[in-house]
Amino acid sequence: MIKIVVLSGPMDGFEFRTDKSEITLGKDSQHIVALPLDPQVSQNHARITREGDEYWVEDTGSSNGTFVENQRVESKVVLPPETIFKMGRTALKLKAIQSPEDDTVVCKCGVKNSVFDKWCKNCGRELLSSG
Ligand SMILES: [Zn+2]
Repeated sequence: MIKIVVLSGPMDGFEFRTDKSEITLGKDSQHIVALPLDPQVSQNHARITREGDEYWVEDTGSSNGTFVENQRVESKVVLPPETIFKMGRTALKLKAIQSPEDDTVVCKCGVKNSVFDKWCKNCGRELLSSG
């Protein structure tokens, strides 16, 4: 399982989780990573594929390009976890989730909860994923 976290831009704070080996990104709501709020993202913008333990990103004909560490993606390039990539005004990062413990949300009361929980198991407060 991986998650793709939005770090900045109009959809700052959004997260997308998937265990699929092909992840499409774009403005269209059919994409696993759908970014409808960024006007500079194309309908079909980019694709990430998993090959073994590696992730690769390619631009799928976007108007404004896909960038990995500020380098425009001309063909398929490797996308290591924790590397920042950009589409339009949106900066994103891919994170591998090895186990549920890697992916916890700490409540304001200090108790760790699973990201799959919506409410704190200790105090019942609504959890906001910190990424
Ligand atoms: Zn709590």
